[in-house]
Amino acid sequence: MPSADWLHASQFEAMLSDLRPAIAKPPFSERKLRLVAVACCRKMWHLFPNDACRKVVVFAEQVADGKSDPADLIVHQREMEKFGEELGRHPAQFMVWAARECCNESAWEAAQNTAQELRDRLRKERGDDVARVEEIAQCQILLEIFRSPFEGDPCDEFPSRWTTAEVRLLCEDFMQTNDFREFNLMEEILKRAGCTNDVLSHVRQKTGHVRGCWVLDALLGHRMRVN
Ligand SMILES: [Zn+2]
Repeated sequence: MPSADWLHASQFEAMLSDLRPAIAKPPFSERKLRLVAVACCRKMWHLFPNDACRKVVVFAEQVADGKSDPADLIVHQREMEKFGEELGRHPAQFMVWAARECCNESAWEAAQNTAQELRDRLRKERGDDVARVEEIAQCQILLEIFRSPFEGDPCDEFPSRWTTAEVRLLCEDFMQTNDFREFNLMEEILKRAGCTNDVLSHVRQKTGHVRGCWVLDALLGHRMRVN
């Protein structure tokens, strides 16, 4: 799939496959893939049947950021497995499976399976059209987190002078609060720091920023691959 087509793609699994050559050869960072799974879940946060499921998703997010031990992923998977079986064949069961898949030991499968369970949840109750709309939104999350696998790692294009003390402080604040609704307010500050237009036009978007945003990650030095 050529770069321009990737930017307009609407099939989640096809887009994910395109990432393979760019990032899936070790040593690669699993961070962004797991954050895709988390962002897909956070988008449907209100549909989780209880806080225990949400806590499991938050745990996966902490693993992505190196703040929790990946060895415990299996514990949370089992917890969700047990809860899902107790729920039985109920639409909420898909949400439990989504939380379980966020903790899949393979970050690749976490991204793929979590997104699938969430679409199945919508398909089951609200039909194919609603599930299709969600798939397009999930594709937007891939763009938000990876930009394009054909353009290389944004970190290579971001000179350190862009991450001024003021920029770093703001970025860290977004990461800490997990609230990106005012991300577009960074535009002026980044303009002063000398950021280029493609970066500014991404920051300018009022919606759609999530943990793992390619601009935020590049400013903080989170690479797509581990060197
Ligand atoms: Zn963003």
